[in-house]
Amino acid sequence: MIAILGAMQEEITPMLELIGEYEKIDYASNTFYKAKFHGKDIIIAYSKIGKVNAAITATVMIEKFKAEKLLFSGVAGSLNPNLHICDIIYATKVAQHDLDITAFGHPHGYVPGIEVFCKTDNALNQIAMSVAKEQSINLIGGVVASGDQFICAQDKKDWIKATFNADAVEMEGASVGQVCAQLNVPFFMLRAISDEASGGADMDFDEFLDKSAKISAKFVLEMVKKI
Ligand code: SAH
Repeated sequence: MIAILGAMQEEITPMLELIGEYEKIDYASNTFYKAKFHGKDIIIAYSKIGKVNAAITATVMIEKFKAEKLLFSGVAGSLNPNLHICDIIYATKVAQHDLDITAFGHPHGYVPGIEVFCKTDNALNQIAMSVAKEQSINLIGGVVASGDQFICAQDKKDWIKATFNADAVEMEGASVGQVCAQLNVPFFMLRAISDEASGGADMDFDEFLDKSAKISAKFVLEMVKKI
């Protein structure tokens, strides 16, 4: 079973449309969509926004639906001047930028038991690179920082970028990465850029959410064909 997780409905609708036929299962105050795609069993859901929602949904996908790999598809704010709206990035590693126990001498983002960064799966990242190559899509790997905040201010953006050497910011990835690490499930995450996380990011987000979510969704489904 391969799990594909998004945070918002807009992030999974393009996949459900492409797949066409699926079974809907309500569980844990959420809806899970079970389908077959190119001979593979897949389970799709959107968690709703934020790290806790995403962690719950990822856990359910693994524990109840027996997902053996988890792929996140969604949108993010860019922190890297080379990553423009509608470009895509896969996470090489993820960190929680809002976890702060620096008062006790730990670095920003330190998660007890996990350190600061949580790595994504190398084999899945390689599949992403091969899909990008085949389709002549420019794909980069980079650090993705997650926190329970929509980043739309230059100072906050600069701080996250400098502290975590991060290329993109969003609100779920690092919590999903932690769940997958602890349950021993390979984790991949693709994000298409919806905004630049500075002033006006909320307006860009509203304008580009659908377009960028679709770019990410289509790419991740291409990957599933190769898994
Ligand atoms: N419009 C939504 C809120 C969107 S929050 C509502 O009203 O409910 C932003 C979502 O997109 C999150 O799921 C997050 O992962 C991602 N995201 C995109 N750009 C972001 C940014 N600049 N900062 C943080 N998260 C961002």
